[in-house]
Amino acid sequence: MTSRHLLKNRRWTCRRLRARSIAIGALVLVSCGDDSGPAEIVAPHRAEIGLRVRVHLLSSQFEPLNTELTEDEVRTVFGRVNAIWQQAVIRWDIESIVREEALNADSFAAILRGDLQPSDRVIASVLPRDNLLTGDWDVFLILSFGGLTGGIYFPVIPAALSAELDIDGRRELTRATARILAHELGHSLSLPHVPCTEAGNLMSPGCRGADRTKLTESQVEAARRQALAGHPYTGARRLQ
Ligand SMILES: [Zn+2]
Repeated sequence: MTSRHLLKNRRWTCRRLRARSIAIGALVLVSCGDDSGPAEIVAPHRAEIGLRVRVHLLSSQFEPLNTELTEDEVRTVFGRVNAIWQQAVIRWDIESIVREEALNADSFAAILRGDLQPSDRVIASVLPRDNLLTGDWDVFLILSFGGLTGGIYFPVIPAALSAELDIDGRRELTRATARILAHELGHSLSLPHVPCTEAGNLMSPGCRGADRTKLTESQVEAARRQALAGHPYTGARRLQ
């Protein structure tokens, strides 16, 4: 078989193959193009990951640090947080709800008055550390950040700090309160901030996109990797 023959045969074979693949393609197109609409993109099957979280409700003489959320309200908030995280098939299981006295309220008050520069170190200093769920997740809740922010994640502890009232002082437990907490838990799963898009994203703060709770496929993958590691994100990479 000379190369010319091979070539001829190959050309012939290719022509037949192309014809066949066009035929097959047309078949597929026909089948996809029928009246039931485009082929459904099936998300890969993902096993549900349950993560244990201890909820710390802070009390204080200084009102912004004093939350009056009831246990039922905390469960309502987590119901919505779990609805948001269902897209990653991750479920937050409340291990316990504890009430604790906030520390260093004077420094926090000075920050809210504008007398002290806000810093992670000073804000983190209000969190009592003697009852952490080591190795798992800890969420601290206060009343308000006085309009400074909605929440903060501290990889060094690690713990999330979120507020009952949103940045505008509104109390919407199944809306802003849950969304902001879901965002901080996104940081605990190693997700950084992403730019604001029309589509919206859980990890773009203040972004009024279409869906402010949405996660992309790559965010879901990254969050599940951290969840499967079995502990909150403690890396040095700045997430906020
Ligand atoms: Zn953030």
